[in-house]
Amino acid sequence: MIVMKFGGTSNQDAAAMRNVLRIVRAHVQHRPVVVISAIAKATNELERSARTAQQGDEAGALKILEALFSRHAAIRADLIQDPGRAAGLEARFSRWHEELNRLARGIAILGELTPRSMDAVCSYGERLSSSLVAAGLQEQGTNAVWVDVKEFMVTDDNFGQARPLMDPVAEGLRRTVLPLLDDGKVPVTQGFIGVTRGGLPTTMGRESSDYSASIIGAAMGAENVQIWTDVDGILSSDPTVVSATQLVERMSFQEAFELSYFGAKVLHPGTMLPMFERRIPVRILNSRNPESPGTLVDADGGGDAPGVVKSIAFRRGVSIITVTPERRLGQFLFWEGVYSVLNRLGVGTGTTVTSEYNLAITVDNKSDVGKLALDLRDVGEVSVAEGLAAICLVGHGIGKSADIFPRLFASLGKVQVPLVSAGASQTSITLGIREADLDEAVRRLHREFFERSS
Ligand code: ADP
Ligand code: ASP
Ligand code: MG
Repeated sequence: MIVMKFGGTSNQDAAAMRNVLRIVRAHVQHRPVVVISAIAKATNELERSARTAQQGDEAGALKILEALFSRHAAIRADLIQDPGRAAGLEARFSRWHEELNRLARGIAILGELTPRSMDAVCSYGERLSSSLVAAGLQEQGTNAVWVDVKEFMVTDDNFGQARPLMDPVAEGLRRTVLPLLDDGKVPVTQGFIGVTRGGLPTTMGRESSDYSASIIGAAMGAENVQIWTDVDGILSSDPTVVSATQLVERMSFQEAFELSYFGAKVLHPGTMLPMFERRIPVRILNSRNPESPGTLVDADGGGDAPGVVKSIAFRRGVSIITVTPERRLGQFLFWEGVYSVLNRLGVGTGTTVTSEYNLAITVDNKSDVGKLALDLRDVGEVSVAEGLAAICLVGHGIGKSADIFPRLFASLGKVQVPLVSAGASQTSITLGIREADLDEAVRRLHREFFERSS
């Protein structure tokens, strides 16, 4: 069997969804499990309605929901002609619309929006879109079955960032999805969302439908996992910043992991680990250009010579926190002090650089940088540099390559680089730079490593 995941832009309207149906139908002989994200921007809109309700604007929240349901109704009207099927979907959607309205009213009355309520609200996006895809496939004669993720995607109760519990997930898939495949049916399910053991909806973090696909693939021992998106595959950088990007045909799990970890939106960073553990190849493909071969990510990664930059990722909104011990009691005690603060606050770091006694970490501005800096003052002297970004060059063996660094710094010209990290991973080099310099720096690096004809 295979897993086919389609992202929000692949489902944004009826035309895009027809494309998805065509692609799924072309793969039926490979026994696909289809994983669907919410239609483009739907999760943002659900979040926005919940926040609007929290501010006490119930009418505003309901209006946002109304518009979202109208978008889905328009796709349904375009895609589904069979009267029974259309009526079934309409009834389901109006039930969900009523449930969401009730949730919004509750949030507005309490003026309180917990991660648990936010997950309950957000869980509807994927349920709506996957229902449309399942019905669309049925409409075209494919024996598709809508599978509620509640049947198998059991997670912990860390709302907003839930993690799957692999044993119940595998058991649930064996019980509900496998028999459908064995009967020649096409299961269509939801990315992003899960359910606690007690039956409450959870989500696994924004953009995590890729991760859902990989969990399902790993638990079921898929032949491969296909991530269908809106670009030809993994590119040499983000096409929204660099115009002359090139397709990366092959990548290793490690390279793809580092790329996603350091900000390349094309894959959720959680996706690679389950695939790496089970050695399941991943293909990133373009739903708007299905003929393109896409990018193949596997253990071997193309086996090319080391030292070649394959792609450049970046992350905006980064701070560098530098900690210097006041008393030099011992490196280990100092490091332990720093990491215990990070652990206590649950803050993950991007990159860590140490000199004899100083330690510099990059952290995402989404974490509470002020609180972190304050608590680290118990460990040492703290300085915070804000307004930064991180750039990560990825390619196996680049950390060891003698000619990368001179080229890198020469191409950056006068762009200041307050932090460099290389060596811990042979697969990446990370730079901290001012956010204002980011686009220019990425373009310069891209020109140097991809656009030079030598
Ligand atoms: P989906 O909705 O299918 O999950 P995303 O928007 O999450 O799609 O991811 C695809 C987007 O990732 C692309 O449109 C592109 O702008 C962005 N992106 C960032 N870095 C890269 C990269 N190195 N290669 C390809 N796409 C990238
Ligand atoms: N719909 C979710 C989001 O927008 C999950 C995803 O698209 O992967 O974050
Ligand atoms: Mg995505």
